[in-house]
Amino acid sequence: MSDNQLRVVWIYPDLLSTYGDQGNVLVVERRARQRGLDVARLDVRSDQPIPTSGDIYLIGGGEDRPQRLAAERLRRDGGLHRAVENGAIVFSVCAGYQILGHEFINDLGQREPGLGLLDVVSVRGEGARCVGDVLGDIDPRLGLPPLTGFENHQGVTHLGPTARPLARVRFGNGNGTGDGTEGAYNDTVFGTYMHGPVLARNPLIADLLLKLALDVNALPPTDDRWYEALREERIAAAQQPA
Ligand code: GLN
Repeated sequence: MSDNQLRVVWIYPDLLSTYGDQGNVLVVERRARQRGLDVARLDVRSDQPIPTSGDIYLIGGGEDRPQRLAAERLRRDGGLHRAVENGAIVFSVCAGYQILGHEFINDLGQREPGLGLLDVVSVRGEGARCVGDVLGDIDPRLGLPPLTGFENHQGVTHLGPTARPLARVRFGNGNGTGDGTEGAYNDTVFGTYMHGPVLARNPLIADLLLKLALDVNALPPTDDRWYEALREERIAAAQQPA
């Protein structure tokens, strides 16, 4: 953070915002402001350069063609790499998650290089599309309550040795590999298949991003009764047979 201002960057809302992912930006902004932080939000369209001095970058999900276009532009731009080298936090969803990995299968059925910011590789799943509610336990190292979300993807994501699973699913598919993992993270870069938007359903993940960005261990408490009620409702829904 510089000038006591938290800079939140939303990457490519014109390409990667198919599933209400703007909600993730709103939740990060709101929870930062509730803690008295001055927040500058920057929405970066795909014809604009990625700023390298942001604190938190958010990337949403998208359909297959916009996903390829976004990957091409992000590779060409190079700004996200520099931001991560500067210590930025990145939180990515679905298509955005796949783009952060080494490669994924694009809309033309070809292997498309990603950004290599997460040690994951995505392939096209051979089975049915993964669609539905998800409930999982987040990596205990992160100290967060269970994850709830909604997934909608054909891709299957394999984790390499330097990526840790974000969660282990109790219901749903997550990475789709059959090993029960969902999402991935390394120090400051996070990926998940959860839409929803996921941070509205799991606001303590937004707080984790804020703590990492501020380099603090705790934040002032907030009134989370509404979020808790939503979470309980979604956990109950996830446990109901389809
Ligand atoms: N196109 C990707 C897939 O189906 C990502 C979809 C999404 O972002 N929901 O795996």
